[in-house]
Amino acid sequence: MARYTGPACKLCRRENQKLFLKGDRCTSGKCAIDRRGTAPGQHGAQQKKLKEYGMQLREKQKARRYYGVLEKQFKGYYSEAERQNGVTGETLLSLLERRFDNVVYRMGMASSRREARQLVLHAHFRLNGKKANIPSIILKVGDTISIREESRDNKKIKELLEVFTDTKGAGAPWLDIDRANGTAKVTAIPKREDIDFEVDEQLIVELYSK
Ligand code: SF4
Repeated sequence: MARYTGPACKLCRRENQKLFLKGDRCTSGKCAIDRRGTAPGQHGAQQKKLKEYGMQLREKQKARRYYGVLEKQFKGYYSEAERQNGVTGETLLSLLERRFDNVVYRMGMASSRREARQLVLHAHFRLNGKKANIPSIILKVGDTISIREESRDNKKIKELLEVFTDTKGAGAPWLDIDRANGTAKVTAIPKREDIDFEVDEQLIVELYSK
């Protein structure tokens, strides 16, 4: 399945929740959820009561869109979460949180996950000192991200670094962020209470357990 390239706000309206897909616009008065908040389409304003399957499907779609992951990849993360010890839904979220692009976003280097994905794809970061440009890499405890020296002269990176050193960033208690040097280290596996995403992960587990 191809990556969605349509209007991002439409996805939030479909899920009736802010998914923070458009950076600064999401916290401005221009957010479509704050302004109209109805589902897209001709009958979007009519609230439909979802049945069990519908609710499970919506939670899965919401999580997939929030992290910018394709269907097949998402299913792969679920299978991996099932294999690991622990509560499957929480492990699933922990895996998604530790994606390379999400960590760049959480450290405050990008205003959205989409932007973070672009930065990673353009190889502006090093992972444990080595060049890495795969947004889906799952980071482990002890892994370190740093800005590539060659990228510090890049206009976009310079702009981001200016905001980065000022900002509090999206933050994450499981990351040790060094703003002066533009680095972050994973210090722990994120727990459910560390992840500020409103989703009922148990419904996703129920969907895939059918
Ligand atoms: Fe979603 Fe951001 Fe658009 Fe608001 S501005 S609807 S949070 S993508």
